[in-house]
Amino acid sequence: MPATDPPAPTSPVLILGGTGEARALAAALVAEGIGCVSSLAGRVTDPALPVGEVRIGGFGGVQGLTRWLAEHHCTTVVDATHPFAQQISRNAADATAATGAKLISLRRPAWTPGPDETWTTVADIEAAARHLSTRAGRVFLTTGRQDVGAFAGIDDSWFLIRVVDPPTGPLPPRRQVIRSRGPYLVVGEREIMRDNRIDTLVTKNSGGVLTAAKLRAAAELGIEVVMIARPPLPVGGTRVASVGDAVVVVRQALALR
Ligand code: NAP
Repeated sequence: MPATDPPAPTSPVLILGGTGEARALAAALVAEGIGCVSSLAGRVTDPALPVGEVRIGGFGGVQGLTRWLAEHHCTTVVDATHPFAQQISRNAADATAATGAKLISLRRPAWTPGPDETWTTVADIEAAARHLSTRAGRVFLTTGRQDVGAFAGIDDSWFLIRVVDPPTGPLPPRRQVIRSRGPYLVVGEREIMRDNRIDTLVTKNSGGVLTAAKLRAAAELGIEVVMIARPPLPVGGTRVASVGDAVVVVRQALALR
């Protein structure tokens, strides 16, 4: 008799994670006894792990994700990935459409400028690089290591590049790379910008409280903020903006099955 693989375990809820909200959601579902698996891309070394079951690594595109959902009898997918993780969100939309699983998109609200804050909003990372290339300056770059390459051709500005893990691609020639992981406080952000004579902060509109202190500090110091707007979410699915709302919609989705 040929050996057969054991059947894949049933996991009614898949959380596509890599964010604080995804970890909070996993904790809330586990506390309610709802079976879920959290999925991480495996990009960062030593990631903050959610409670409960975790899988790490890509699925192998839409086909791989579709297969995974079918094999695990997954009926509900919560896309709780970072607002700028576009590919996995597209894959989640396509794979849930293929299997009939419910898609819930959990996105924390975007940041909006306060009354004393003026931002230069740009459409994407390339537009941010084009904006910087028009003049020389001292730039605090907080867009994450995957996007640093867009600024590699700029040689008349100096960059302070803050990343969790070291960047592996091309870098701007005049730079310093510092490694750290939030959350950050206004006092520390003010100090780092003042000590490095920063005149421009470049950030994605990630939203959330953990990394918002840089915006307050930049406003206080009169530093220009170049804000990269969020890409649109794929069409379809139920959109929620808080972990609490995601739990409610997950419960409803499971009750309907
Ligand atoms: P992406 O461009 O949207 O996705 C690229 C590929 O990475 C996907 O096609 C998928 O591979 C894999 N992947 C992404 N997220 C995954 C997940 N949660 N579980 C399993 N596979 C995943 O993603 P990204 O922008 O590189 O972000 C990767 C992860 O870092 C995400 O989980 C995101 O939440 C987190 N993150 C991203 C940012 C950001 O600025 N982009 C910031 C903070 C955290 P396959 O096609 O092989 O399935």
